[in-house]
Amino acid sequence: MRKVLVVEDETSIREMITLNLQMAGYAVAPAETAERGLELAKAAQPKFDIAVLDIMLPGMNGYSLCEQLRKNDSRMGIIMLSAKSQEADKVSGLAIGADDYMTKPFGVSELLARIEALCRRVGGGNPGKVAAPVADKDSVISGRFVLDERSRMLYKDGRPVELTQVEYQIMELFVRNAGSALKRNEILEAVWGKNYCGDEKIVDVNIRRLRMKVEDVPGNPEHILTVWGFGYRWTE
Ligand code: CA
Repeated sequence: MRKVLVVEDETSIREMITLNLQMAGYAVAPAETAERGLELAKAAQPKFDIAVLDIMLPGMNGYSLCEQLRKNDSRMGIIMLSAKSQEADKVSGLAIGADDYMTKPFGVSELLARIEALCRRVGGGNPGKVAAPVADKDSVISGRFVLDERSRMLYKDGRPVELTQVEYQIMELFVRNAGSALKRNEILEAVWGKNYCGDEKIVDVNIRRLRMKVEDVPGNPEHILTVWGFGYRWTE
């Protein structure tokens, strides 16, 4: 059973999300504050698959919580909930490690769809493998990089690179299309799904984050190249 952490201080929203997720077959741990959410995440065995985090919380806010959760778990899918007035903050939420965001008010079916999509993404493979993979049919080699599709890990020069599942999916897309320029909306569709209703900025934010992890000099990328007015291209 998939485990979801829900951190939301507004009781009615928290209960609505919790109830609907439970009806959809998820194990849900609701929390009123980020501090409590963090406690639950630390104690959770096995770990949560997904976290749904409100941004405006009493005490620690959703951004800091997201950052804390990411420190301990790069595989968890994280969805941020923002109020309309925080539209501009969405991008900073993504920058610190969230996979997706939703603006309040939102429909429960939309939230469920996003959670299901994220679950599919975080679904594959076994976490925690540290040994570099040997080249076999489950790994793809691209220059200094090896993508191990079984464990969904990326290795650079034989060392594991900590990626979120969204980042992993983008890398998978890049490596499988090495040398080809990919349009922003192609990346969006391939990674976030055809029915994603957010904007293409989410791609740029994730690329920026990926460059920090993958490039020797993120400001002067050698692998993830910008194709101006178009999108991005991966080169070995
Ligand atoms: Ca709130």
